[in-house]
Amino acid sequence: MNRIVYVNGDYLPEGEAKVSIFDRGFLMADGVYEVTTVIDGKLIDFDGHFMRLERSLGELDITNPMDRDAWLEVHRQLVAQNGVDQGMVYLQVTRGAPGDRDFIFPDPEATTPTVVLFTQSNPALVDSPKARKGIKVVTIDDIRWGRRDIKTVQLLYPSMGKMMAIRQGADDAWMVQDGEVTEGTSNNAYIIKDGRIITRALSNDILHGITRAAVLRFAQEAQMPVEERSFTVDEAKSADEAFVTSASTFVMPVVEIDGAKLGTGAPGPLATRLREIYIDESRKAAI
Ligand code: PMP
Repeated sequence: MNRIVYVNGDYLPEGEAKVSIFDRGFLMADGVYEVTTVIDGKLIDFDGHFMRLERSLGELDITNPMDRDAWLEVHRQLVAQNGVDQGMVYLQVTRGAPGDRDFIFPDPEATTPTVVLFTQSNPALVDSPKARKGIKVVTIDDIRWGRRDIKTVQLLYPSMGKMMAIRQGADDAWMVQDGEVTEGTSNNAYIIKDGRIITRALSNDILHGITRAAVLRFAQEAQMPVEERSFTVDEAKSADEAFVTSASTFVMPVVEIDGAKLGTGAPGPLATRLREIYIDESRKAAI
């Protein structure tokens, strides 16, 4: 693999790209990220991801180093230079690399944010074998911090959670707080009961998924009722269907929760339909 990546203004072969050991992203997870999906060489929901990036940076008092059009240009350059047809563009902005390690934020005049972007190709994104079978999830305690609405690079617990799931023969974990599901390790969580789509309401407890916003809009347009409210693990286990959403998995059916099969144990009709609608509509609107 010899990708062209972007680091602080330069397009470089990945082996030549470097970030300081004093970078606060590396030392303190002091940074945010976005993942924008690419289909047919075009970006899905670029503006949604750009707006969430601005919000995440604002919440952490990091100045956005580029405007919308500059970000778009870097995304497009990387997609073109790496010949990405299906895959994603990852971007990360950290508070930068001051001279010394210190808990106090460095003077923003003296320390500029670090900007890194790279691409990953995945030809099986749309026609995903996992989506045809559905995924199994297990539930784990949500022990993350209280600002999950900020898309920071503190991903150790979600990564550990995914490993806990895999060790139990599942694909992913749903995190649970006070008996209620917050979200998946890297996706938003939904159940369907009697034709109603139920997903936790937006708050600081979950990431405000860009795919979530699009899917809820498409569901309403297709006359599928949506309830934005919390649900318990027991309610989830007795649901008719379930699914997760994220930029890189779109709508992914869930067929088992803590060993309890949902419905027939195959992806449900509403989740399957929502996946098709999401992919069709996103493809049409891609830039
Ligand atoms: N929740 C969490 C914890 C996530 O990491 C992600 C994906 N980054 C999502 C939800 C889904 O967000 P999006 O639809 O914007 O990819």
